[in-house]
Amino acid sequence: MSDIQLRNLVKSYGENVAVAGIDLHIQQGEFFSLLGPSGCGKSTTLRMIAGFIRPTSGQILIGSDDVTRLPPEKRDIGIVFQNYAIFPHMSVAENIAFGLKLRKKKPAEIDTAVAFALKQVGLMGYENRYQRQLSGGEQQRVALARVLVTHPRILLLDEPLSALDKALREEMKYWIKDLQKTLGITTVYVTHDQDEALTMSDRIGVMQKARIEQVGTPQEIYERPKTLFVTTFIGQSNVLNVTVKGREGDRLAIEFGGGTVLTRLPASDFAAGSAAKLVVRPENVIIGEAGTGLPATVVSETYQGALVRYRLTVSGQDVVAERQNQSHVARLSVGQTCAVSWDPERSEVLVA
Ligand code: ADP
Repeated sequence: MSDIQLRNLVKSYGENVAVAGIDLHIQQGEFFSLLGPSGCGKSTTLRMIAGFIRPTSGQILIGSDDVTRLPPEKRDIGIVFQNYAIFPHMSVAENIAFGLKLRKKKPAEIDTAVAFALKQVGLMGYENRYQRQLSGGEQQRVALARVLVTHPRILLLDEPLSALDKALREEMKYWIKDLQKTLGITTVYVTHDQDEALTMSDRIGVMQKARIEQVGTPQEIYERPKTLFVTTFIGQSNVLNVTVKGREGDRLAIEFGGGTVLTRLPASDFAAGSAAKLVVRPENVIIGEAGTGLPATVVSETYQGALVRYRLTVSGQDVVAERQNQSHVARLSVGQTCAVSWDPERSEVLVA
């Protein structure tokens, strides 16, 4: 098991910069996700770690080894891609044994290792099946077993669940997370799916436009986003135009909706009178009776089963609120006047 260090890692294709200088230290045993929209440079970063793409500049260390110039097969990594890269003309057992045969292991040793890997991925009894006899999820398990059997120092996963249907994705994400924890293998996971990243990761690096915008635990990323991009990419947020009034003790006072609202003190300073964005997540908007907060009017109501989602207007700006659909919570009707508020700790002021 090893940690991974990326030092000012850059990849350009002529004018096009795919990765614009990434510095990252992924800890030993960590499940680290690179999360971001399509084209932000996630796969390029992962493929540079794997050795399939040569960096334009910068350095990659696995453990204490500088692997920047090493070919993939010398890096001691395992990689699983989105499209299940298993050989259709080989049985499951042959697929898993493939890497060990290349390494000239003894047949008895290979048999033991294959049986163990099949057990690890929960596919005992599948030895003699072929790709066409496997579901998508099973194929990804085989792809993982084929990698794990070689005992790599690090595991790289490039959108391994995105070809699977939703139910299977749900199941597999918990399964992969559990397996990773059991093995304790340092893992880098590439995804554009925020739910996967939040559920599976120890830490997430949110990427945009060839750079990492924020690194943090799922909770830090979700509850303490540092930029507007992070807050809107991960989950949903109300982003409101507000004016900063100034510091009030350990809070920041802002002007919004004809009143003063308090929020957490932001990391950076905001001058009084400056325009800013106030960010609050729909589940943190509290709807109360008129007089208990900022005056609001219900514009629409959407029933979502476990949740009811309201769109409200507050001083001409849209505010979305989500409420648990519980029997003791009265539903609101369109046009109804009410009030909204939130816990200052659950709101954030960011640069406009
Ligand atoms: P992601 O994995 O986040 O979707 P990629 O790492 O695949 O993004 O790509 C990042 C950027 O680099 C994109 O703009 C993409 O078009 C560009 N890119 C990737 N590979 C090449 C290539 N071989 N030649 C030119 N541009 C590339």
